[in-house]
Amino acid sequence: MCKTLRVRWTLIPQTAPQPWITCSGCRGLRPFRCSGKIRLNANGRRLDAWLIYKCLDCDKTWNRPVFERRNVRDIDPAVMEAMQGNDPDWIRAEAFNLEALRHKSTRIDEFSEVEISKEILGEAPGGTRLAIELAAPWPVDLRLDRFLAAELKISRARLAALHESGGIRTEPDGILRRRIRSGTVVFLDLSAGEEPMASLRSLAVGDGA
Ligand SMILES: [Zn+2]
Repeated sequence: MCKTLRVRWTLIPQTAPQPWITCSGCRGLRPFRCSGKIRLNANGRRLDAWLIYKCLDCDKTWNRPVFERRNVRDIDPAVMEAMQGNDPDWIRAEAFNLEALRHKSTRIDEFSEVEISKEILGEAPGGTRLAIELAAPWPVDLRLDRFLAAELKISRARLAALHESGGIRTEPDGILRRRIRSGTVVFLDLSAGEEPMASLRSLAVGDGA
């Protein structure tokens, strides 16, 4: 790992997935957006919890079940507290719960806008290698090669050529054209010198971005 600039990019998607649900107001399938609110209903020892969605066209609500008739004793106290306090982090995690949404809808719109926070993990002066660790706490609807091309201002053809020549590799291997997954590391070896390291460095660490 000598002479490598190591960075971590954390990708935060800006809009939660929107399931298409039959809207009783519009009388047809419509995309619904998450309202960021939880509704709880206690019935004796049993609890229902729903995440509230709203039709994009008419604002009619749809309640996505998070729990149904769950015994209160079986609910993690931390989850209970998060739901009662409308905890934004907990709600965000639920809003990005694609697995749960797929049980309720066959069509889900996802959004590719992400906010990226970039931090340096380690740097050796004069290096020509770059390692980018990707962290995606919530699912991100972006293909890795498109994302890298845009962020590093390298054409996709050039990326493909670098991949071919071993100038770029990923861990795990073979995922350059796949959707971004958290934990992926991208290694770039720029010793061929076609891309000036100084400009890539500033893109990698987010200087002046
Ligand atoms: Zn509607």
